Amino acid sequence: MGVVPRRWSGMWDALPDAARSIVKELIIHGPQSRTALAKTLHLSTGSLTRLTKPMVDAGLLIEGDVVHDPVNGRPTRPLDVAAANHPFLGLKLTADQVHAVITDLRAGVVAARDEPIADHSPEAVCRQARRLLDELSAGAGLSRIVAAGVAIGGDARSSAQVGRERLVDAPFLGWRQVALEPMMERALGVPCVVENDVAALAHQHHWFGAGRGLRDFALVTIGAGIGYALIVHDHLVAATEADLGMFGHLVVNPGGPMCPEGHRGCASAYLASESVENAAGQGLRRAVPYAEVMRLAADGDPVCLTVVREAAAALGRLIAHITTMSMVKTVVLAGEGVELARVGKDDLERALTANRRDVPGSVHVVAEADDFREWARGGAVVAIQSFVTGSD
Ligand SMILES: [Zn+2]
Repeated sequence: MGVVPRRWSGMWDALPDAARSIVKELIIHGPQSRTALAKTLHLSTGSLTRLTKPMVDAGLLIEGDVVHDPVNGRPTRPLDVAAANHPFLGLKLTADQVHAVITDLRAGVVAARDEPIADHSPEAVCRQARRLLDELSAGAGLSRIVAAGVAIGGDARSSAQVGRERLVDAPFLGWRQVALEPMMERALGVPCVVENDVAALAHQHHWFGAGRGLRDFALVTIGAGIGYALIVHDHLVAATEADLGMFGHLVVNPGGPMCPEGHRGCASAYLASESVENAAGQGLRRAVPYAEVMRLAADGDPVCLTVVREAAAALGRLIAHITTMSMVKTVVLAGEGVELARVGKDDLERALTANRRDVPGSVHVVAEADDFREWARGGAVVAIQSFVTGSD
């Protein structure tokens, strides 16, 4: 099985890097005048006009209504990307669900669907993805998409090498060394990129979320597992499955509760959904789902409040360690369990400050949406980035 060739349009393949920078700038920061763009990207206005003309002709860029240029006051028509005309498919695969979104070029969700994975074989999942694409496209009145991205928990990165297929390990789906990209490309009929789900979410926040405009930030995801990604100097720091597996088991309080691997007081022992449910269930003497623990804690239930406060303090210590080691100043919290950081905000902040030598405000913590579809959006974002930067 050979590598499936990229199928971007001929015009797009031939674009110089400077043209790609223009598209990237417009996607991330919105419509701008030619003079403002030229200034930001250190190009002459002549070069800018020469670079943008073929992209305007091809319909990738559009000109807005006449406004007065903020730089020189002259009337101008700001450039923008034709976001709505460039749709992308994003998928997130879990052990039992496929979450699908169609987004525009700015990762704005146009259509979304979540459904159970009917058959776990890679071929069947690809067929299901195709059906989802067809149904969502028809519902949104779209005739084609540009590309697709799949966010998947597991090792979708470490075997990526130039000239070699990227093979995916996804233990929760029973997949080992699956050549998912070419398989998905054949099923969908468009270029496809596969990425680790936490990395995909970091890319999403970097371009379109709390990390927009930041060169450095860390992402921590809270849910069934604890995820971590680090963006430094505008690039994602490459990590292996071993690195990522370690992160969730960093010990933050040696006397704390125990995780299934026998660590006392590791991050997972405090923060994983099951740990939170078990700790609350022990006090309440009944099984209690994660969302109910958060609700009860917010209502002042003493058992759930204690569980959430202890977990939030552990998260504060974890964030203190991350920021001290990596020296990033912003930490984005996301994932389906992120409500914990909101309910336990005061304890999180207190523990963070205490572990940063009592310098309050030295780190900016942002708790994001806990919507599961954000992961699927992350899938669309890696496809968008691959399209814009020309890498895969
Ligand atoms: Zn552990």
